[in-house]
Amino acid sequence: MDLLRDPRWNHGTAFTRDERVEYGLLGLLPDIVSTMQMQERRIKAHIDSLPTDLDKYIYFNDLQDRNESCYYSILMKDPVKYMPIVYTPTVGLACQTFGRIYRRPKGLYISLKHRGYMSEVMRNWPEADVRFICVTDGERILGLGDLGAQGMGIPIGKLALYTAVAGVPPYFTLPIVLDVGTNNKELRNDPFYIGVPQERLVDEEYDAFIEEFVQSVEEVFPGCCIQWEDFANQNAGIILERYRNRIPSFNDDIQGTAATGVAGIIAAMKYKSERLQDQTFLFFGAGSAGLGIANLLCTAMLKDGITVEEARSRCWLVDSKGLVVKQRNDLSEGKADFAHDHRGIPTLLESVRELKATVIIGTSTIPNSFSRDVIEQMASNAERPIIMAFSNPTSKSECSAQDAYLWSEGRAIFASGSPFPPFEYQGKTIFPGQGNNIYIFPAVGLAILATKPKTIPDKVFSRAARALASLVTQEQFDRGQVYPPLEKIRESTHHVAVAVTEYFFEAGLATVAKPDSVEEYVASMSWKPEY
Ligand code: NAD
Repeated sequence: MDLLRDPRWNHGTAFTRDERVEYGLLGLLPDIVSTMQMQERRIKAHIDSLPTDLDKYIYFNDLQDRNESCYYSILMKDPVKYMPIVYTPTVGLACQTFGRIYRRPKGLYISLKHRGYMSEVMRNWPEADVRFICVTDGERILGLGDLGAQGMGIPIGKLALYTAVAGVPPYFTLPIVLDVGTNNKELRNDPFYIGVPQERLVDEEYDAFIEEFVQSVEEVFPGCCIQWEDFANQNAGIILERYRNRIPSFNDDIQGTAATGVAGIIAAMKYKSERLQDQTFLFFGAGSAGLGIANLLCTAMLKDGITVEEARSRCWLVDSKGLVVKQRNDLSEGKADFAHDHRGIPTLLESVRELKATVIIGTSTIPNSFSRDVIEQMASNAERPIIMAFSNPTSKSECSAQDAYLWSEGRAIFASGSPFPPFEYQGKTIFPGQGNNIYIFPAVGLAILATKPKTIPDKVFSRAARALASLVTQEQFDRGQVYPPLEKIRESTHHVAVAVTEYFFEAGLATVAKPDSVEEYVASMSWKPEY
């Protein structure tokens, strides 16, 4: 019975007759002996019959708790269909309702009540060899704000994609939520809230909590990589900088998103036969994601022989107070790097008009902020304006694919964080790209697994961006895409993982011997869902 309840080893009705005898399963299963294919057909039909995305999420998650191989097999074979259930946009809804849909435990909930003995709590995790931790403190879940401990849905979903997309073995991964309280009053008053219903730890208490967490990881899972996920802007950058040279770690919202954004822009430049430094980039939303993309974009421009100052002069930010300019005295360090000598402009539309932006990148969490006026203005600034509405989930997207195409007379090069369906414009079908860091973090994860690096520098993400951009074909660009099709995400992930693995060896950061063929070595790392 233990075997049937262990998702790693359970095959359910696919246990053969011999296995049933050998493992004492006779009578515990019905007579039928299925294949994994039969099980998949049955499960997929059931998912299709469920009325809402949340129902599908719940059912699919239950499958992960029952039979990992079957779960990953379904996810790997059709990522386009099943990723939106496991990840954005449905995972947003799942986190909002997590306290109501909570079933079996998954991952670790490390709370403020565990201060002083976090490493003991970590030892309760049944696997001794953990290579990846994806951790959130739940303060900025997608664009949905502070969801406290209910943010657990995000690390669970992200790590499932490490496996589904890159083949990172699931037993090497550990989702963690740091339950440091929540400032979401509604949640604190919700009787079904699953976390500690008190205000968030702040300042020294918060820093000490994170420090104890990192020390515990170093002690219990030495060499493990930490992926910081969905931390609020005021903590994300600081935590990344504090720990990046001490342990292998990265922040996907800052660095993964940056690589994704830059890859899409590089691919568009290639087929538009234009140069990065000739564009005017306008970032709407200047938090972790926006600043991450802006900084990596500047790094990419440096490669073309211009100075940092020149590169930054091509990038403008608009935050909740309007255009980021020198005369403002409310700017964080990250924003100040991009503050130019210019009069203050209060709105996005005026900024787009006055600066003649050719690329706008939305990471603002403000739905419909790329209004008709904004998109029409973009379309008059450039023959093929680039419009990236990166905020997640779909309900937070700065505009829909349909809006971008309609209001630009079909000329926009569009990508969004959450998926939009293809759109028919004047007899031509345009396929919006999904500019989501799913193209980057699983590949980086596989490369980390392959090389066990000491640290993870920014160059990893520049390399990943270029590798991803190089995969976009003329044909795909003509269909409207600046990313390889999601149907081929496993192939593109392998390609990016090989490029990043090569970088780790070149940079002397790998702690394993370089194999003769990096390509074959990376392929050999990939876990397969089989019985
Ligand atoms: P963040 O909290 O660090 O930043 C959000 C920024 O938007 C803040 O700087 C905030 O000041 C700004 N903002 C809020 N209201 C605004 C307004 N009215 N006008 C202009 N700016 C405003 O969050 P983040 O990590 O940067 O994420 C932002 C969004 O990007 C989220 O929706 C997130 O889901 C999405 N995101 C997408 C991807 C992807 O792969 N596509 C990756 C990471 C983040």
